[in-house]
Amino acid sequence: MTTNPFDYAGKTVLITGAATGIGRATALAFASNGANVVIGDVDSRANDTVKAIEEQGGGALFVETDVSSAASVEALVAAAVKRFGKIDAAFNNAGVLPPTAPFAEQSEADFDRVLNVDLKGVFLCMKFQIQAMLQSGGGAIVNTASVAGVVADPGMAPYVAAKHGVVGLTRAAALDYAREGIRVNALAPGLVTSPMTERWLNDPAFKQALMNNSPMGRPAQPEEMSGMVMFLCSPAASFITGQVFLVDGGQTAH
Ligand code: NAD
Repeated sequence: MTTNPFDYAGKTVLITGAATGIGRATALAFASNGANVVIGDVDSRANDTVKAIEEQGGGALFVETDVSSAASVEALVAAAVKRFGKIDAAFNNAGVLPPTAPFAEQSEADFDRVLNVDLKGVFLCMKFQIQAMLQSGGGAIVNTASVAGVVADPGMAPYVAAKHGVVGLTRAAALDYAREGIRVNALAPGLVTSPMTERWLNDPAFKQALMNNSPMGRPAQPEEMSGMVMFLCSPAASFITGQVFLVDGGQTAH
C-alpha cells in the first residue's frame, strides 16, 4: 500500500452523473487528491465541475454522454483512454428517480426510463470500462445503488427494482473479474441533499416524515458519500470486491 492510499496523483477516474449532487462532490474530492477526472453526463452543467477542477489545477474532461446508450458510453470510455491513457477507477453514479406512486399506478414509460438509466446504464458503463481495464491491467469500479437497492422504499417500485439490479450487476461483475485485478463494489446512499431529492426536502411534511426515519435526524450532504467511493477505489480496499456499502446515517440499522 502507498503511504497515503487516497493519493490519486497520476490516476484517472471516470465518473458518470457529475454535473450535480453526489457525482459532482466526488469528482471534486478525487481531483483535490490528485486524480484526473473524466465526466459523462447528459447535463452540460458538468462543464462547471470541469471548470472547478481546472481552477484547482487538476485535469478534467467532460464528454456529453447518455449512459443508456451503448454508443454514447463506448465513446465516453474511448475519450477517457485517448485523453489520459487509461482508466484506473470508475464511479457509475448517473441516475434518475421516478415519480412517487403506488406500484399499480407506475407507468410503463417511467419504468422503462428508470431501468434504462439506472440499471442498463450501469451495465453499459461497466461493460466498456472493464474492456479498457483489462487492456491496462486492472482497476476499481464503484456503482451507485441506494438503500433502495437493499430494502424497498414505498412508492418507488421502478427505482427499487433498478437499484436491486445494480447490486446484482455489481456482484456478478466482481466474480467475473476478481482474478483479473478488477474490483467492483456498490455504494448504497441513504437520503442525500441533491437536485434529485429537492422536491422531497422542500416539502416540510414530507421532509419531516423522512427525518422520522433517520437516526441522525438529517439528510447527508453529497460530500459525505465521497470518502467511501475514494476508499473503495484505493489500495486500502485491495481485498474488497462484490460488496454493498450502506452510507445511510444508520437508517437501515433498525
Ligand atoms: P443528481 O440528480 O444531482 O445527480 C444525478 C446525475 O445523473 C445528474 O448529473 C444527471 O444529469 C445525471 N444523469 C441523469 N440521467 C443521465 C443519463 N441518461 N446519462 C448520463 N447522466 C445522467 O442526484 P444525486 O442524488 O447526486 O444522485 C446520484 C446517484 O445517487 C443516483 O444514481 C441516485 O439514484 C443515487 N442516490 C441518491 C440518493 C439521494 O438521496 N440523493 C440516495 C440514494 C441513491
